[in-house]
Amino acid sequence: MKQIALYIHIPFCESKCYYCDFNSFAGKNELIETYTNALIKEINHYREKLSEYQISTVFFGGGTPSILASNHISLIMESITSNFSVSKNAEISIEANPGTLNKLKLQSYRDSGINRLSMGLQSCNNAYLKELGRIHTYKEFISNLEDARKVGFKNINVDLMFALPNMKIKEWEKCLIEINDLEIPHISAYSLIWEDGTKFQQLKYDGYIKPIDEDLELEMYHLTIEFLKNKGYSHYEISNYAKKGYQCKHNITYWKNQNYVGLGAGAHSYYENKRFNNANKIQDYIALTNKGNSPVKNTMPQTGTVLACRKNTDSLAAAVENVISISRADEISETMFLGLRMTKGILVEEFAKRFNESPLAIYKNELEKLREQKLILFDDKSIKLTQKGIDLSNIVFCEFV
Ligand code: SF4
Repeated sequence: MKQIALYIHIPFCESKCYYCDFNSFAGKNELIETYTNALIKEINHYREKLSEYQISTVFFGGGTPSILASNHISLIMESITSNFSVSKNAEISIEANPGTLNKLKLQSYRDSGINRLSMGLQSCNNAYLKELGRIHTYKEFISNLEDARKVGFKNINVDLMFALPNMKIKEWEKCLIEINDLEIPHISAYSLIWEDGTKFQQLKYDGYIKPIDEDLELEMYHLTIEFLKNKGYSHYEISNYAKKGYQCKHNITYWKNQNYVGLGAGAHSYYENKRFNNANKIQDYIALTNKGNSPVKNTMPQTGTVLACRKNTDSLAAAVENVISISRADEISETMFLGLRMTKGILVEEFAKRFNESPLAIYKNELEKLREQKLILFDDKSIKLTQKGIDLSNIVFCEFV
């Protein structure tokens, strides 16, 4: 059976973190019940479409999935397992934020079949948590982590952020030491991105805060790589580190440019050579889903076009805002720059098998140029970024777009 990954978007949050530009909304919790029902309808719509696929991974992301009552998550999981063929080895992850989590919820996740927990910690320092607009303390995270282990979670990730305003390298190192001491098998560590439209961006514009020096940011990144490598983590993707056997299978699906279906408000999908996304607003998503048609079947695009379907409000098809047909050239290009995010890079044979053509031939000139600039290494087995290439990855990726 063909494999596919499933993403479930939960767009609710207790409050909006100051740096966040995700499709998430605070103050809409009264919509949780109807949203859950709409999600279940969307899952039902996909029953036929995914009948030839086996679900290899499921990922509840957000937003804050742990804001939902445990019975809502159980209902969604029941709907997934009754509508789809889910691999018995499927990795099933849920993102959870301290401040919205308790032992009963964690137990219920386990009972529903969820086997991976991704915790949004961001910082070990309460002062930084407050500055980021997070609703929790480090102590609450520790308490949730202990409960998670008591109910049987072993596969656990923490999300961390560095390069926060005024952050010192010693503070970042202290956080890495504390997390390593907790023996958490997977760490995602991202530098702060100053996104447009966020409170952080406004505070920067008004002169209250400023980004740290770029050299210091790079120093923090290199420290992260060295520290975690020395502690037995493999640095398997630009911002991700895992102990043996704990790499995130769901995210690897994205980096390998493989098929996934995203359900829920604003969720993106990529399968059958189409990319599309659902309506972002919770109310739009609920209203459209309640019309009762498949979100995809009426919106198959003409090749190479981007369709704006929102005006078609008579059909659930309108829940899909855009559908983009992916040509072979697009797929090759995406597979290159997504695959290079992984430190093992592009496997030449695997790529050639997928496209009937070697990446070494397709990108001969680009690869030579990048090798001369010491940004990339390649031989007849693989193509991968050098450390300099990782530091300047956006420049490298542009060569393949
Ligand atoms: S909890 Fe996550 S999704 Fe929600 S506002 Fe904060 S960063 Fe954004």
